[in-house]
Amino acid sequence: MTLTPFACSVHTHSTLCDGKDSPETMAAAAYAAGVRYFGVSCHSHTPISADEGAVLPADMTAYRKTALRLREAYSGRMEVLLGLEWDSCADVSPEGVDYWIGSVHYQRGNGKFYAADWGEAQFSACRDELFGGDALAVAEGYFAQVAQVAAKKPTILGHLDLITKLNAGGRFFDEQAPRYRAAALAALHAADPRETLLEINTGGVARGYRETPYPALFLLREWRAMGGRIILTADAHSADTLTFGYAQASALAVQAGFCTSTLLTLSGCVDCPLR
Ligand SMILES: [Zn+2]
Ligand SMILES: [Zn+2]
Repeated sequence: MTLTPFACSVHTHSTLCDGKDSPETMAAAAYAAGVRYFGVSCHSHTPISADEGAVLPADMTAYRKTALRLREAYSGRMEVLLGLEWDSCADVSPEGVDYWIGSVHYQRGNGKFYAADWGEAQFSACRDELFGGDALAVAEGYFAQVAQVAAKKPTILGHLDLITKLNAGGRFFDEQAPRYRAAALAALHAADPRETLLEINTGGVARGYRETPYPALFLLREWRAMGGRIILTADAHSADTLTFGYAQASALAVQAGFCTSTLLTLSGCVDCPLR
């Protein structure tokens, strides 16, 4: 079998967190779509009460059992990996899993959590209440946290520039601004290209927020110059988006100078050609 990036989908959510479909439905859809390395990566528990139900419980025993049951069910046909999307505010450790995606979703201050991707009101409140109205400072605060997560050497660094999700047309801040670029590059430079894969994540495109996957081309080019490897992910929250936008993500990777994409398997990373 010749492997392509479409054989791997390891950034997925289900009804065990904020996804629409059950883990069983996600696995069945992955297999039907030709995925041969399927990973479950629900959101780690965080102390944010409003998120109960949208994230895993702190005790991940049942979650692990579900993944291992699926692994057994697909044995010999598709590898099922136990992953975790570990949030920077998590109160659990990313241990005891096959792989983990290190992601930043919130900024904390004033005894509150402000989500980077919950909508304009949250972004504006974060800017005005935590950063004195300076939208670029919101981005700098976000990337400072990404740098901290990157330094922990996650298997995959999640949606590096999620902070741009609501910034179509530069409505909140200028993505060309030297301050913005310096903050984003500093976060990337905190990642170890020998230990961590950078994901090209199509989730924002699938949900209609963006026209291009995360991250921006200049960040991909820098990662390439650092000798880093990339993995395509869909951040799938439903069974119909497990490899959404992979062709676009591949083209973006090629544009940034990559020749291969990495697949996660139970026996480690495997590189495959992008075309
Ligand atoms: Zn995420
Ligand atoms: Zn995710």
